[in-house]
Amino acid sequence: MQVKKRLYVGLLSVSLMMAVGLAALLWYLFANRALLINQVVLISLAYLAVVIFVVLGLGILGIVIMIIRSKSVPSLEAVTLWANELLFPIALAIGKFFGIEKEKILKSYISVNNYLVGNKQLSLKTSDIMILLPHCLQDSECKFKITIDVDNCKNCGKCKISDLRELADRYQVRLRVATGGTLARKWIQENHPKAVIAVACERDLSSGIQDSGGLPVLGVLNCRPNGPCINTDVDVAEIERALLTLSKGG
Ligand code: SF4
Repeated sequence: MQVKKRLYVGLLSVSLMMAVGLAALLWYLFANRALLINQVVLISLAYLAVVIFVVLGLGILGIVIMIIRSKSVPSLEAVTLWANELLFPIALAIGKFFGIEKEKILKSYISVNNYLVGNKQLSLKTSDIMILLPHCLQDSECKFKITIDVDNCKNCGKCKISDLRELADRYQVRLRVATGGTLARKWIQENHPKAVIAVACERDLSSGIQDSGGLPVLGVLNCRPNGPCINTDVDVAEIERALLTLSKGG
């Protein structure tokens, strides 16, 4: 067995052992609740659970308040981010249990994220914004290496890259193309944008937003007339609207 596989299987086993250990501890504490020390531990665990639930509840309430007020609440931003990160996989699992299409949930998540980012009413300089494109937007027969430098595009007009370069030039915004999450992260680390407009499918966008660690990301879904990951398309006007949202305060 290779080391990588062993690591993952090992972590799975440790997770299971921890879950079993916690269940056994709770069972032991309840079975011997007459002992004072067990009562103290039980009460402490109960307090901890209450604190976690209150914080998660505040996070969800924060999202609802921001949507209703159409305005960000800076003091609740950290807690909404935390609740989002923690509850996101649970929401997906519950959706799966009820037979809700995963893409539908991801679309809804992206829409909530965009709404919250819009409500921050940022007024950034366009030069502080980065547009991050997926490689599949490029015509599959084009031989120019636009992931190295998008200016290698010859503006032939066969795909939307030429229109997007024109948009980026007009607004003096940085434009980068990524083949995946690793390159996307590299572009962000190298360019230090204050906000990102990311184009991708539901899955890549939602994981990118999750990975952004608080950096405002506006997600724009691509269109897939030829199926996933090949000769995809995007509405350039929607990207321009996202640019105005981030630069003109919403
Ligand atoms: S517009 Fe640019 S990237 Fe697209 S096919 Fe033409 S040269 Fe290639």
